[in-house]
Amino acid sequence: MKAKRFGNKFIVRIDKGEEIVETLKQFCKDNDIKLGYIFGLGATNRATVGLFDTKTKKYNSKGLVGDHEIAPLYGNISTMNGEVYLHLHINLCDSKNNSLGGHLNSAIVSATFEAIIESIDGEVDREFDEKTGLNLYKI
Ligand code: FE
Repeated sequence: MKAKRFGNKFIVRIDKGEEIVETLKQFCKDNDIKLGYIFGLGATNRATVGLFDTKTKKYNSKGLVGDHEIAPLYGNISTMNGEVYLHLHINLCDSKNNSLGGHLNSAIVSATFEAIIESIDGEVDREFDEKTGLNLYKI
């Protein structure tokens, strides 16, 4: 990956073969970004996306293989127990231009991925919420 900083914003390029979620997480750690948001677009040929089942309080994840446009990825950056925590959602378009998506677990870049990350000067932590089964903002 490559990145260029402009004030509190970063222009990011993630290259073919790199995994998006871990790369973004490491980037936030390396640059001390604890709060902010990410939006991006590009292409993937291997992704795992999930849907949170509110009854079982579990994520049902599905693997997608084949060329897909990332149109787009959107997510937020916060922390949980002092560690960078990314919450990312993605919309993917297949060869028939059909769209599918969900909560993003991982995606391998097949061509390129371009993102803008905005860092907010602050920190919001998360905590596990029994009622929903989710890690909610601790505000
Ligand atoms: Fe989600």
